Amino acid sequence: MEEKTNLMDLTLEELQERFASMGAEKFRAKQIFQWVHKGIKDFEQMTNISKEFRNKLEKSFYIGRLEIGNKLVSKIDGTTKYIFQLKDGNLVESVLMQYLHGYTACISSQVGCRMGCRFCASTGIGFVRNLSSGEMLDQIISIQNDTGNRIGNVVIMGIGEPFDNYDNVVKFLRLVNHPVGINIGYRHISVSTCGLVPDIIRFSKENMPVTLSISLHAPNDEIRQQIMPVNKKYSIDKIIEACKIYTEVTRRRITFEYAMISGVNDSAENASELGHRIKGMLSHVNLIPINDVEGADFKKSSRQTIEKFKSILERYGIEATVRRELGSDINAACGQLRRSIINKAEESSS
Ligand code: SAH
Repeated sequence: MEEKTNLMDLTLEELQERFASMGAEKFRAKQIFQWVHKGIKDFEQMTNISKEFRNKLEKSFYIGRLEIGNKLVSKIDGTTKYIFQLKDGNLVESVLMQYLHGYTACISSQVGCRMGCRFCASTGIGFVRNLSSGEMLDQIISIQNDTGNRIGNVVIMGIGEPFDNYDNVVKFLRLVNHPVGINIGYRHISVSTCGLVPDIIRFSKENMPVTLSISLHAPNDEIRQQIMPVNKKYSIDKIIEACKIYTEVTRRRITFEYAMISGVNDSAENASELGHRIKGMLSHVNLIPINDVEGADFKKSSRQTIEKFKSILERYGIEATVRRELGSDINAACGQLRRSIINKAEESSS
């Protein structure tokens, strides 16, 4: 028998095509698209669709909702961490953060990650598979339905390297931005990459005015190679060149993410080197006190060191901000909760 298709994975145009081949009226596609993006779990909930057509739908499609496997709410700032279980039992995580301007969801793009950054908790869990566009979208829809609050901003900074799952991520961006769906503006979305150069250039041509964040984390190849193996493939010079092409094509400012690691990349000299490299670019630097990760002995830089680093960058005319730490009591950073759950499961099975 033919495998059923997840309705969440289809664009409106794809639905229209499928329905045309089923002999259904064209307007049905929009109705169904609207229902699944509202977050319904069952075909029965499609109250404006006849039972006959619902039965027909059910033969070829399913509504791929994620299940909330676990949820932790920070007592400090209300940040909420979700563990979602996918249809095949795999787990991913998402984080909901509240800012003055509304709610932001941080979502995962893959089950695990192949990039191997040494400071990142997702590294320890290996790579399992890519998420489909619908699985990315449903992280947002499920959180909205769970909390009853509209999510206004999305960052793809959870588990995974978005550009290692390029096609599904781009399709996800189209789905999430769709006016008939949840309609989150591109300007309210950030995509973060560890610097896959060909994809940065490819992405510049997608005509999607999202914010592109580059996880730079080092001022030179020597340091970057120690903490990010991907740098062996794409050097800092190549990344910066790609970023310049990106900003020229899109006229969009790039964000450089820079995790501050004590004694590794946080000296005054490191700041000057970085400043020298990126001065004059249409960019902004986000300094992140590194989060402790089990098994990696990196320590975050002191507040004072971070402030000094920032002021040196400013001398080069570079705008820099220090990221607020949210959800520190619930392992809200980067793959940490999923990892601790998997560890516990392994402990209890051994
Ligand atoms: N793979 C993508 C997106 C996922 S990680 C990327 O590399 O950009 C999201 C951000 O969190 C990246 O900037 C990543 O480098 C950073 N990050 C990972 N582990 C971290 C840690 N322990 N402390 C602070 N930031 C971390």
